[in-house]
Amino acid sequence: MKYYSTNKQADPVSFTEATIKGQAPDKGLYFPEYIPQVDRELIEHIDQYSNEEIAYRVISPYVGAEIPEAVLRKIVSETVNFPIPLVQVNDRISSLELFHGPTLAFKDIGARFMSRCLAAALSGQAAQSGQTIKSGQTVKSGQTTVTVLVATSGDTGGAVANGFYGVEGVDVVILYPSGKVSPVQEKQLTTLGGNIHALEVLGTFDDCQAMVKAAFADQELTSQRFLTSANSINVARWLPQQFYYFFAYKQWKDKTNPPVISVPSGNFGNICAGILAMQSGLPISHFIAACNVNDIVSDYLETQELKPKKAVPTLSNAMDVGNPSNFVRILEIFQHRFPELKSCLSACTITDQETEATIKEVLEKYQYLTDPHGAVGFLALERYLQEHKDKKGIFLETAHPVKFPEAVERITGEPVALPDTVKEIMNREKKSQVIGPEFDQLKSYLLQ
Ligand SMILES: *Cc1c(COP(=O)(O)O)cnc(C)c1O
Repeated sequence: MKYYSTNKQADPVSFTEATIKGQAPDKGLYFPEYIPQVDRELIEHIDQYSNEEIAYRVISPYVGAEIPEAVLRKIVSETVNFPIPLVQVNDRISSLELFHGPTLAFKDIGARFMSRCLAAALSGQAAQSGQTIKSGQTVKSGQTTVTVLVATSGDTGGAVANGFYGVEGVDVVILYPSGKVSPVQEKQLTTLGGNIHALEVLGTFDDCQAMVKAAFADQELTSQRFLTSANSINVARWLPQQFYYFFAYKQWKDKTNPPVISVPSGNFGNICAGILAMQSGLPISHFIAACNVNDIVSDYLETQELKPKKAVPTLSNAMDVGNPSNFVRILEIFQHRFPELKSCLSACTITDQETEATIKEVLEKYQYLTDPHGAVGFLALERYLQEHKDKKGIFLETAHPVKFPEAVERITGEPVALPDTVKEIMNREKKSQVIGPEFDQLKSYLLQ
């Protein structure tokens, strides 16, 4: 499988090259040259397959022969080795709980898969030993260290830290805004040590992001340290997110009436992976992009014009994105044919007030606690189902409520019980280096 850039000004690359590069040199996103079709037999007898086997079959056409089968099977089984249950909330709505991984959010899946693929690519387990990563610079087994540089507003950093912890040949540097991530999130970023380095930036998330961007653009720095990114534009983070849509269908009882799926969306990587799964043959009735007030995709579906806006802070802060980078991949899936896109995808905007009311109501009516992101997904789905009486659906519960304790406790009036894994993390010692919000400080840190 080759990947082309959505800007079409860069050369097509292989899966491992796309994984190492992250973004295409022309600033486009890599996209598979065709969409593989899953075996009918897998779909018809999906309940007889293990999650590992399903995941392997879904991903292997995207990887090709570049990572040997035994290595890829191991990567896949380490990626999906925690439960992903479909829990019935009421007679028409179920929750796909994606928060049972090590950092309690769905990003664990993509981060675990990507870190292991990157390690495989670097260690020469990939078919060609010595991937050319940029002109004149070659990574060979054990020789070069890649630095994964990420800015995080919360969930990405933890998932990336955990996914890359102990991976050979990879150093991870995470920038997070001091005082602006939740206590659980901060511990997840700062307590691992080893190859994971946390920089606590005395600024905002936008400052962190600007510093990372400046680092990628700085020639002196990039000539001395090989930098790559681990955000959701990386194909190795994006593609494995298809897995849990298959796991949802495996657990879906009424196979004659496939589910509507509501996806709390920010950068649109997650929902785009779901739509890709549908296009490759997974039966899904319809997708709903459940958004907070950062809803430029709703506007797009009305007007066919994509107009980026400045992000507004909300309760569901992992979705505060004013210019979702993965939306271009959705356009690519439909080859920019608007009517087809519109028949598969709707969008719904949910305000913070509605999010709060939904958390309360779902808890009181159904004894089910959602986090703010899941609540947006629930309400968007409920609204759609009111208009489509013959349908039933699933919303993705993208994070554990304990990651957003302030909001959830204020709304429900009850403390959120800490899972054991979190209790353990909260007792560990935070290790971070505090730096100012200037690129020079990041640069000297990286060059030291
Ligand atoms: C990242 C995140 C989202 C948004 O996912 P995208 O793939 O960026 O659309 C939603 N909910 C939670 C909890 C997240 O961490």
